[in-house]
Amino acid sequence: MIHGEVGSKLKVMLGGGKRSFYSPEHYDKGRRTDGRNLVEEFEALSKGNTFVKTQKKLLDVNATETGRLLGLFSKSHLHYHLEQLADPENKEPTLEEMTQKAIEVLETEEQGYFLFVEGGKIDISHHDTMARIALDETAELSKAVKRAREMTNPEETLIVVTSDHSHTFSVSGYQPRGSDIFGAAKAKGQDGKPYLALSYANGKSFEDFYNTETHEREDPTSLPTIGDFDQLFPATVPLESETHGGEDVGVFASGPWAHLFTGVYEQNTIPHIMAFAACVGDGLTACDKE
Ligand SMILES: [Zn+2]
Repeated sequence: MIHGEVGSKLKVMLGGGKRSFYSPEHYDKGRRTDGRNLVEEFEALSKGNTFVKTQKKLLDVNATETGRLLGLFSKSHLHYHLEQLADPENKEPTLEEMTQKAIEVLETEEQGYFLFVEGGKIDISHHDTMARIALDETAELSKAVKRAREMTNPEETLIVVTSDHSHTFSVSGYQPRGSDIFGAAKAKGQDGKPYLALSYANGKSFEDFYNTETHEREDPTSLPTIGDFDQLFPATVPLESETHGGEDVGVFASGPWAHLFTGVYEQNTIPHIMAFAACVGDGLTACDKE
């Protein structure tokens, strides 16, 4: 990301992973064993290279004076949005804020730009069967998409929103309109106990919801963690980490050539259509006369 053939061409890089850029002598949680400080090296490469490590510093970045922008806001992964609301001390930028600043900086490119934004915490929270967090992180991604659409012109900017896979997550139980999606389904199970509308086919929460001595389900609405932002949702098969699912995922698009994103196709088609619309790459593009 600093010196490499591909990474050195990235103009904006925002996220977590700070410990991989530092040796322990420069940052106490640094993990590098080569004694290097890649942040310092990044700043020394060019006068316009800007490094930020807090939400405030990111928001203060002047886009027109910035060459490359590197923002590292956490030792490892960024924290969950709901986790940050619970602990405002450690305020990291939201996905929406990072998206906005990235577009401000990239907009200075006369040739246009490609921006990749990942709501990377959706997947991680599903692996832990934390459905409240997963849906909140999805809402955070939605805010980032909304901001990107507000800041760009649909006549010239193609926006594609998709997922790389699903999870074993399902919504069940015919809940009445207006009911709490995190609550119980309308009817009870055949064991006379309520069940939650949201659940997983597998995951680490199995034992929280199933009494292995009596071989009966626990009443999920009676568990002490119910209502906590990081509560777990039931899993049918005990597994350390909930798995990805296998069904097709949606692809949503707006802007030039968005109509090509329709129907069912292999995932590797997506970058080909993007390159076609953006007139880049070796393949056929929208700019080819023939
Ligand atoms: Zn995953």
